[in-house]
Order: sequence, then C-alpha cells, then structure tokens
Amino acid sequence: MRFYRIEHTNGPRFAREEGNDLLLLNAAPWANGEPTGERVALTTAKLLAPVEPTKIVCVGRNYRAHAAELGNQVPAEPLLFIKPNSALLASGAAIVVPASSQRVEHEAEIGVVIGKRLKQVSAQEALQAVFGIAPVNDVTARDIQKREVQFTRAKGFDTFCPVGPAIVTDIDPLGLSVIGRVNGEQRQHGSASQMVFDIGTLLSFISNVMTLEPGDLVSTGTPEGVGPLVAGDIVEVEIPGVGVLKNSVR
Ligand code: MG
Repeated sequence: MRFYRIEHTNGPRFAREEGNDLLLLNAAPWANGEPTGERVALTTAKLLAPVEPTKIVCVGRNYRAHAAELGNQVPAEPLLFIKPNSALLASGAAIVVPASSQRVEHEAEIGVVIGKRLKQVSAQEALQAVFGIAPVNDVTARDIQKREVQFTRAKGFDTFCPVGPAIVTDIDPLGLSVIGRVNGEQRQHGSASQMVFDIGTLLSFISNVMTLEPGDLVSTGTPEGVGPLVAGDIVEVEIPGVGVLKNSVR
C-alpha cells in the first residue's frame, strides 16, 4: 500500500492511495488510521512530506565507497546524527540553498518509517517493526560540514530533508536499491546489500540509544556519487518499486 500526507481543508491529513484517488484517514497509518469516506484525486492533492516523526535519525558513512570519496574511514559502529523536523520537505517543493553555504550537495538515501515503538530490540525484531519505505534526500551543506565537528548546522537547514512522495509498505527493505539523479543524469546508485551496517542492525543499534516511536524516520546513509546542487537544478531520489522524490533547487 502507498500512504501520503496532504494539505486539506482543515490542515494536514494522512491518506491511502486507491486507484487514482486518495482515501483520507482519521489518523496516521502507523496509528491504525482508517478511511473516513473522504476522497480526493491524487493529481489535485497538495502533497506534504508523508511523515510526522518525533525525530529524524540519520546514519553517516554507511557505504564504503561514499566514505572513501569524502576521505573518511568506515566507522566501527554506526555514526548517528539527527536532522530537525523543520527540515522536512515534500516531493515537488524547492530545496533552498542558504546564503551561508557555497556547496550544497544531494545524498540519495533509503528512508525507513518505523511502525512500532522500538526500545533495545534485536535486528530481527526491528525489521518486523518497519512500517514502510520512502526515498530521502539528506541534503548537506558540505563546506559547513567539513569545517564543523557537529553535523547539526550543515544538515539542519530548512528544506534539507526532502522525503516522499509516499511511504510504501509490504516491501523487503533489504532488497532495495537507491538512485540519485540531477537534471535527469544519474549520479548515485547503491543497494541496501552494500550497506556497512544493514537496516536491521541500524535500527537495533539506534533503539539501544534512543526509543524509536511509530512514525519516526531513519535515513540509512548514501552511496557514492554525491555532488553539488545549484539554483535551477532538479534533483531526484528514486527507490525502484517505491517511488521518485523530485525537488527543484533555488
Ligand atoms: Mg547522508
């Protein structure tokens, strides 16, 4: 199934795709939201980021070739950081290059949406609690990241967390691949099987640090091929079988 979040008459609503329509739900799908009978056409819906997380947990240097391209070692344990919810951006909306950075880059990633509370669980238990998958672009001000110890500023600007357009459920997270494109040209291609720490291991590791809540978003790292984004670019993150996240840059 495919789940969206859209702007509606009285504010944001979660919705489930059915044919060419979206069936509006009375709650988030991971909170057992059910259709209310309200229906809107997918083509006319104003899409929002399809998540409403309590936190966005990201993983750095989780593909060997990407760690190498930035001159970094592969970490002995997952390298975690958090992006603020204020960075969330819908598919179709514009990434804004901040005046304080001269080098903003795309990072195509597999996003995992959590379905159940996870606290100190095994990799096996964690995988069973995955709600669904969505493409994520971990947009990064690389120049700022390189001169600061913390990633918070470099990865925390408003619009630096595009995700969507939808969350897809009932898909094996370990069999996925991810592609990054700029202006139609492929720049990144990787698969979950190439991750240094696989998705179950990552979720288990994170759950031993912080409780993951239903609806939380975990972005699992980017493969090699990251590169600059400038005003006027169109950047896409595709997870085949899940969807294409598409954003302009200004
Ligand atoms: Mg990243």
